[in-house]
Amino acid sequence: MKIAILSRNTRLYSTTRLIEAGKKRGHEIRVVDPLLCYMNITSHHPSVHYKGEPLTGYQAVIPRIGASVTFYGTAVVRQFEMMGVYSVNESVAITRSRDKLRSLQLLARKGIGLPITGFGHSTKYTNDLIKLVGGAPLVIKMLEGTQGIGVVLAETHKAAESVIEAFSGVKANILVQEFIKESEATDIRCFVIGSKVVATMKRIGKEGEFRSNIHRGGRTEAVKITPEERSTAIRAAKIMGLNVAGVDLLRSNHGPVVMEVNSSPGLEGIEQSSKKDIAGMIYDFIEKNAKPGKTGTRGQG
Ligand code: ADP
Ligand code: MG
Repeated sequence: MKIAILSRNTRLYSTTRLIEAGKKRGHEIRVVDPLLCYMNITSHHPSVHYKGEPLTGYQAVIPRIGASVTFYGTAVVRQFEMMGVYSVNESVAITRSRDKLRSLQLLARKGIGLPITGFGHSTKYTNDLIKLVGGAPLVIKMLEGTQGIGVVLAETHKAAESVIEAFSGVKANILVQEFIKESEATDIRCFVIGSKVVATMKRIGKEGEFRSNIHRGGRTEAVKITPEERSTAIRAAKIMGLNVAGVDLLRSNHGPVVMEVNSSPGLEGIEQSSKKDIAGMIYDFIEKNAKPGKTGTRGQG
């Protein structure tokens, strides 16, 4: 098959592995930087142009859209969908997953376990908002942060108030969340492909850090998940509409809670800790599911 990987950087571990695994299976693989794509969206024959030429004959795209380029990147994915090209994750699902609030509301609607979460715009009733979610200690998050940046633990009511006011002062949208202390700076990444959890890993925050992100110095370990955790992860990915997803869970006193669902989950940590060929499994899925014109939404939404 002729497959495009939408990625800004061919040297990233995940991109390198996707190129390698695709070629090994005999696919024709090209890495396309979504920010260098341009298109005429009103044409009767939708197309995507790249480096002076139209991209033609592609049967599938693998979007690896970084958080900072979500807006333009998803427009490029949508254009491929309009052309009838199969996208492993559809543009609407990627957009959904990038907004923490929207994601949590969608998951809550379907009864997925979540940390108690609230949000507000005005700081007039901050005091009441803090009480509404159970009081300090509280986690305060910027809605569009990634890699642990913009996630703060406020240990006291006063600290929570100050942090909320500070974020509000710089016009950052935030959510406030129950601090799951019992997870002990550890979360569980479930790598979902289709309707299966294909690999899992535990991430443990470095000494003195409550955030387990690898970018914040966290380390990984193998972990066995419970059937409840497995079904929660699969359901969460399905609700978001993602075929490939990294579902992050916390082990709370009230069962597994979903913290977030990632639409471009990294391959490095999970392949190394699980010793599985996840990039290859993504191609297994594409080979089974990418039929011409089978885009689900065809760019709608
Ligand atoms: P990001 O998108 O920046 O990774 P997350 O919501 O995943 O933001 O939070 C970053 C890290 O902070 C998580 O991996 C987890 O270790 C910790 N964390 C986030 N929310 C909570 C919470 N409610 N209770 C305990 N720890 C949390
Ligand atoms: Mg995270």
